[in-house]
Amino acid sequence: MRLFRIRNLPVVPAVVIASCAFGAMTAPAALFAAETRTPVAPPFWAGKPDSGGFRALADAELRAARESLDRLLQIKGPRTIENTLAPYNEALLHADNAAYASSLIESVHPDSTVRAVAEEETRESSKFLNDLGLNRAVYDAVAGLDLKTADPNTQFCVWKILRDFRLSGVDKDEATRKKVAAIREELVTIGQDFDKNIRNDSRTITLEKDDLEGLPEDYVKAHPAGPDGKITIGIEYPDFFPVISYAKKADVRKRLLHEFVNRAYPANMPVLDRMIAKRAELARLLGFKSWAEFATRDKMIGNDKNVAAFIERLRGLTLKRAQEEYGTYLKRKQQDDPGATTVNQWDRRYYGELIRKRDYNFDAQQARPYFPFDEVKEGVLSSTSKLFGVTYKRIASADVWDPSVEAYEVWEDGRMIGRFFLDLHPRPGKFNHAANFGIRNGVEGIQIPEAALVCNFPGGKPGDLGLMEHGDVVTFFHEFGHLLHSVFGGHQRWEPISGIATEWDFVEAPSQMLEEWCWNAGVLQTFAKNEKGEPIPAEMVEQMRRADWFGRATSIAYQNLYSAISLNYYNRPAEEVDTDKILRDLEPKYTPYPPMPDSHFQAAFGHLDGYSAIYYTYMWSLVISKDMFSKFDKSNLLDPGIARRYRDTVLAAGGSAPAAKLVHSFLGRDYDFHSFDEWLAGEKAGSTPGRGPTGTSAPR
Ligand SMILES: [Zn+2]
Repeated sequence: MRLFRIRNLPVVPAVVIASCAFGAMTAPAALFAAETRTPVAPPFWAGKPDSGGFRALADAELRAARESLDRLLQIKGPRTIENTLAPYNEALLHADNAAYASSLIESVHPDSTVRAVAEEETRESSKFLNDLGLNRAVYDAVAGLDLKTADPNTQFCVWKILRDFRLSGVDKDEATRKKVAAIREELVTIGQDFDKNIRNDSRTITLEKDDLEGLPEDYVKAHPAGPDGKITIGIEYPDFFPVISYAKKADVRKRLLHEFVNRAYPANMPVLDRMIAKRAELARLLGFKSWAEFATRDKMIGNDKNVAAFIERLRGLTLKRAQEEYGTYLKRKQQDDPGATTVNQWDRRYYGELIRKRDYNFDAQQARPYFPFDEVKEGVLSSTSKLFGVTYKRIASADVWDPSVEAYEVWEDGRMIGRFFLDLHPRPGKFNHAANFGIRNGVEGIQIPEAALVCNFPGGKPGDLGLMEHGDVVTFFHEFGHLLHSVFGGHQRWEPISGIATEWDFVEAPSQMLEEWCWNAGVLQTFAKNEKGEPIPAEMVEQMRRADWFGRATSIAYQNLYSAISLNYYNRPAEEVDTDKILRDLEPKYTPYPPMPDSHFQAAFGHLDGYSAIYYTYMWSLVISKDMFSKFDKSNLLDPGIARRYRDTVLAAGGSAPAAKLVHSFLGRDYDFHSFDEWLAGEKAGSTPGRGPTGTSAPR
């Protein structure tokens, strides 16, 4: 699933991970900088601000950021870490606090007037950050630092700051910088429109009672007919996925999928065109051939040609196998419909379930009763607590933006090391995917990390157990992995290297690796229990693991298609981009399934805003995650020993060194494709399952 979101590529010197929050509201950060322990400011939402209160908080953060910058610029004489890097760090932290909180609140607040103010504040803080990225005087000040005696983390941090300044265009002439600033500002609004159109388009279909044939009993019960005898089904995940997986009638699946893949259509088509055109223009101004070339420059992969080659490599690995799988789907479908000549996209999940039942003796519906929402939530918390040696304390009295939201503190050795919120069920106007939103980037001595998990899981209503699909459980672990990365990595001295500040094409790896824990019987049995309190049988988990192999090539093929779409919208002159046509041309190259007629998937492909050209990052990270997982003891996944070493070498390091170096120190060697290739082939005994990234906007 999607991650956490990142808005607008190098927004600033520091890559801004879409989240943010209000920083130390109690006192100027500088007062704390010398302390060894991080002072604990109230949580960002303390006092439950209304729209005016929220504006005041965000503005106060931006004011504090401006004051820090003024202090930095007033210095005469030699530039030092204390008189230059420290105030720069504070400026960034305060501005990010404003940006992160605004990005979260515009996506989750139940009151649309508060969301609207948050949108304005997102624009304000983005403008501040973009202007900062183009501020030549600040750049010169940081570039003038004498780092000879600085520690390696500080040296790396400054290298990164200066690189990002240059990527922002700080060394261009003034006229160019003005144009860059204007386009960036425009891109923020375009991105907000794009996301808002997706968020606010909630479509439904109406069905007769017998249209729900094949659906689990609890689902049918939770969807009673209205006074007119009709049943309404929406495209939000808890409604959508069971229907697309289990509904017997093909027409019902087709109708719902049709609404799903046309979300935000036609509203987002011109918005997307503008987004692509503006980014292409910006990339050219910054001296790059295309936005894709620009967007890959600071990633592990290095450039857009390498992305194309990586996508091609995956195509070679998956297409033939996906075609074989297609043949299996078709044969199974022909049992029901002897005249069938194609398998449609609305058939894939449905027949996938039937084939897994027939050939692998695994019935996903039999697994659901073991995954009631509350048990799963406890399971995520208890297993990660055991694994990483931390304690979570629920703060029932904490202020939250919706009554369904829960607040927690993370404790270790008598010290609070982070805070988080869980906002896990759908409601109108809320972000409708799954993501970890950062709120405050932790900086040792200044503020502790804070984050929010925003998902759309079943449950949360009285009388509804909220039985989850196993895929939901995977999503939950995945997103929680991002959250833990931000907590464990959030204790650096400098904000630009703190939390999830690693290369973007590595950020999914820790989360993808944590998914493995929900394919392990020993782990699942600690929490996956049915109403009678019986744990999920180990044989069922084993069957589930084996069954998961079927359809794997197809699912990776689709992920690869999304990577190709994302790259190809952004790797050419905007005049040559017809988003419908590129999608239609690419689809048959990557998957054997006929395109969904009359559909415009790209209109709700939210990553085209946040990730732009770099959807490949999910697959790139997956390769590394499989390699890292090879170091763990599968017979005792909750063993804290290796987990501690992983936490220390990879997670806690945040962005203080290149990801490849962190992975090397964990693995004792460079990462490679070996484990990934084995996983894809699925032939090695005990090979781990897994799926594509959580966070795809598509139901495939
Ligand atoms: Zn993710």
